[in-house]
Amino acid sequence: MGRVCREIQDWIEQEVERPIDTWVDREETRCRTEPCNYWCACCNKWFCWIIVIAVKIVQIIIEIIKVLVTRVICETVNLVLDLLAFIVTLILSIPILGGILRTIINWVTEIFWRLIGLGDFLVSLAGFRPRKKMYLGAIVPSIDGVAILDDSSIMRQIDATIRYYDVTCNINVIFTGICHTGVEAPQDGLVVNCGAEGFFRDWLVGGSYFEFATSTCKFQDNFRRIIGLGAELIVFIVQNVTPDGIPVLGGISNTIGCSFGSTHNYVVVEGLTSHSEFVTAHEIGHACWLPHDGDANNLMSGGGLPSGMPSITNFQIALVRWSKHCVYI
Ligand SMILES: [Zn+2]
Repeated sequence: MGRVCREIQDWIEQEVERPIDTWVDREETRCRTEPCNYWCACCNKWFCWIIVIAVKIVQIIIEIIKVLVTRVICETVNLVLDLLAFIVTLILSIPILGGILRTIINWVTEIFWRLIGLGDFLVSLAGFRPRKKMYLGAIVPSIDGVAILDDSSIMRQIDATIRYYDVTCNINVIFTGICHTGVEAPQDGLVVNCGAEGFFRDWLVGGSYFEFATSTCKFQDNFRRIIGLGAELIVFIVQNVTPDGIPVLGGISNTIGCSFGSTHNYVVVEGLTSHSEFVTAHEIGHACWLPHDGDANNLMSGGGLPSGMPSITNFQIALVRWSKHCVYI
């Protein structure tokens, strides 16, 4: 069932059907227990039951409308849009041509939706932050039939991300599940360079893998991914993110995650339990335009994440909430 259709269905059930149900239950009890007015041949009881029956008829009509809107119209429209978008994503999976098109589409849609949402950014910056939502999925490749990372390690990252953005930004991160993709990962899909080289390598076979695995694993996101608004962010598990072993002040720097900002709808992480559980939250920060921050306690600290809950500034919160991935509906 289409994601939006399910959300509409849930909304009707919670906001319309449930309150009516409660009301009908209460009225039925009242009709049953109310003493009869014998002077009018129990007219008060009849009236009561007539109203209850009328409301029950309305309930049936609402149920029919709900099924028609969510199951028939919404489902059909969604399926057609996702199918059309799937064809587009096949073109976007072509090395070089698809890669360049992906880069252009992702940046154009990002800038477009940021311009539209400029007011929301300013409102967030001023501290008014109604609940928004962001979809998040994980894709893990396998080598010789064995996933390169176990589900519990992936969930450690996902749970931390959900918790973090909920508490700090009032964003409901909706997790769409771990997909064990059957698409075989090429070397570029397993070891990702997080520099200029990696940016251009994404136009080659590695990028095609990320795109094709996403369009098959997350079929229901295809349409949103093309138009950008509310597009799901995907965490791809990889074996290694490079460069590693760079000497820095006070030690050696190993890269454990990567995002190229709006260029991609995905981020990559190694996800080992020896790493901070907030690596994914950090990479999603990049995907939502957050650059590195000099504060060692900040989520976007460039020199390794703090051991506890990272901090985030007011401006950073507003930037994340302004992202095309972060929406109200
Ligand atoms: Zn970073």
